[in-house]
Amino acid sequence: MVDITSSPIAQLDQVSYRYPAEQWPAIDRCSWGIDEGAFVLVAGRSGSGKSTLLRTLNGLVPHFSGGQFGGSVVVCGDSTRGNGPGRMSRHVGFVFQDPEAQVLASRVDEDIAFALEQRGIPVGTMRKRVEELLDLLSIAHLRDRDPATLSGGERQRVAIAGALALHPRVLVLDEPTSQLDPWGAEDVLAGLARLNDDLGLTIVVAEHRLERLLHRVDAVHEVHSGVASDAMTPEEF
Ligand code: ADP
Ligand code: MG
Repeated sequence: MVDITSSPIAQLDQVSYRYPAEQWPAIDRCSWGIDEGAFVLVAGRSGSGKSTLLRTLNGLVPHFSGGQFGGSVVVCGDSTRGNGPGRMSRHVGFVFQDPEAQVLASRVDEDIAFALEQRGIPVGTMRKRVEELLDLLSIAHLRDRDPATLSGGERQRVAIAGALALHPRVLVLDEPTSQLDPWGAEDVLAGLARLNDDLGLTIVVAEHRLERLLHRVDAVHEVHSGVASDAMTPEEF
């Protein structure tokens, strides 16, 4: 068979990290590669280091969190050493657990346009981009709603659309369905599977409730004491 293995889109090399004033490292010499186009599940019990690892991918760790950082994280050719979350947002979209904490405007379309507006993207381009994102996440009918009036699942899809506004090649989500009802969770996960299938978007999602996600992903990495395992197939896991 021809080896067409490409270099990973995201690569952690011997990453160690300690939060400020903490005695023990939250990440301990972790090397971890993520293949382009993969739909990756990050599993592991609470406190194992999933959130901390995900936050290294866009530089939130250590640029926002402070603390002591060693090793290197490179995504789409850029190291988080010289590039903080602002610059890494060109490569990595990030969605957090709590949909309410991510609301940026009082209309869905303005919320999605937020990152574009901040970067001074021309209005015409911005409108077109927002339309594409509304379609992509099946939320066009919600465009003029106030995010505060949406269900959790709808709001998370708005957050995903916003995270994709700058056309990153990697989407990282930290327990995006943990605060949703089963229907909302299903809508969000089905949306992710579609983004992965249709756009080839690389998706990295941390979850500790696995049953809804296992059958959709390509690879599972289990985190123990701040170290991600090698890739397992869902069956192996
Ligand atoms: P998970 O997402 O798997 O639950 P975390 O990455 O949140 O794990 O936490 C990993 C370790 O880092 C835990 O021991 C946790 O207590 C610690 N930790 C997480 N966030 C902070 C923080 N802001 N300050 C200090 N320690 C933290
Ligand atoms: Mg977490």
